[in-house]
Amino acid sequence: MRGDRAQRGAISAGRLLFVLLLSLSAAILMRILLSPESSSFIEVSRRNAALGTFSTFIIIASEDSTEMILDSMDSLAACLDRELGVFDPEGELSRLNSSGGASLDSISVHLAEVLRISLLAAEVTDSLFDPAMGPLVDLWGFASSPALPESASICSVLALSGIDNISFDSNSVALAGGARLDLGAVAKGYTADAIYDLALSRGALAALVEIGGEIRCGGMPGTDRLWIIGVRDPRSGGTSDILEMTNGAVATSGDYESCFIDQDGTRYCHILDPRTGYPESGVASVTVRAPTAGIADALATAIAVGGVSLAEELPDSLFFSITVITVDSAGALQEWRRDG
Ligand code: ADP
Ligand code: MG
Repeated sequence: MRGDRAQRGAISAGRLLFVLLLSLSAAILMRILLSPESSSFIEVSRRNAALGTFSTFIIIASEDSTEMILDSMDSLAACLDRELGVFDPEGELSRLNSSGGASLDSISVHLAEVLRISLLAAEVTDSLFDPAMGPLVDLWGFASSPALPESASICSVLALSGIDNISFDSNSVALAGGARLDLGAVAKGYTADAIYDLALSRGALAALVEIGGEIRCGGMPGTDRLWIIGVRDPRSGGTSDILEMTNGAVATSGDYESCFIDQDGTRYCHILDPRTGYPESGVASVTVRAPTAGIADALATAIAVGGVSLAEELPDSLFFSITVITVDSAGALQEWRRDG
């Protein structure tokens, strides 16, 4: 157990530095344009380590409540990191993954909601979003030391993937023997939603929650705060798009965030194609705007695998807009967009 925690510390440190560099290079820029309506309401922000990356919380609340609200947001981030991540052996997801096929009963509302979003995303993406790829994700090792695995190893762990391995009803879940979940493509978005809801329920007038680039923002009816969000260009590191939002969520995925390039120049990124077991290629960046960050996060990952053809087919009730930047074999980028 001690060894696992030490490893988590090492992974987090690498990821933190990575995300810090991203934010310094304007990966996600946020600022509030309007000032609070009443002098007793102030805007405060807090930037922290969370979920193996960085988080930014911005709230507008009465002056005497901001610390209490931000502290409760931090506590929920720490709780969901523990329960939905794979690094704490006492966490709910870890206990499920090590249950050897036994059912986990009376699961938390958080795990139940992440599973519901994950299964919805799997359904609408023809399983290109696959939350049951734990063994495959571990094999590629993107969380520690990524390397090209043997193709036979890919084939054998791929056989343990797929949502057919998950039995879920509203308060219990079981996995087929050998299967493990990895919620890395949806947990940050879901956590942003949960923390945002908590901030408003604790009295914030408006809030923006960003976790590793996945964002949920908005406010109480009538506040209409305008949030300006910059999206990182997948190759130059500059800003490829500026989004303006009052209420909603935005998530990005791409081949640039966690990847390695071999001596032939082939790029291998951490978004894996469940059909082949290999990283996606041909999509440099996906940005999904949606009502909530959980579904935006999951869809962005799936579209990175399925490309424009998947983005064309998704039900438009699930999103506000999708932007896909494709990359051809010569490295040329091309932008495609659909509004929901
Ligand atoms: P980021 O974590 O950088 O925001 P994503 O949201 O796209 O990026 O999530 C990528 C992570 O999701 C991977 O590191 C892996 O843990 C997991 N994953 C990779 N491919 C898939 C997939 N096709 N479906 C579901 N989860 C995936
Ligand atoms: Mg995602």
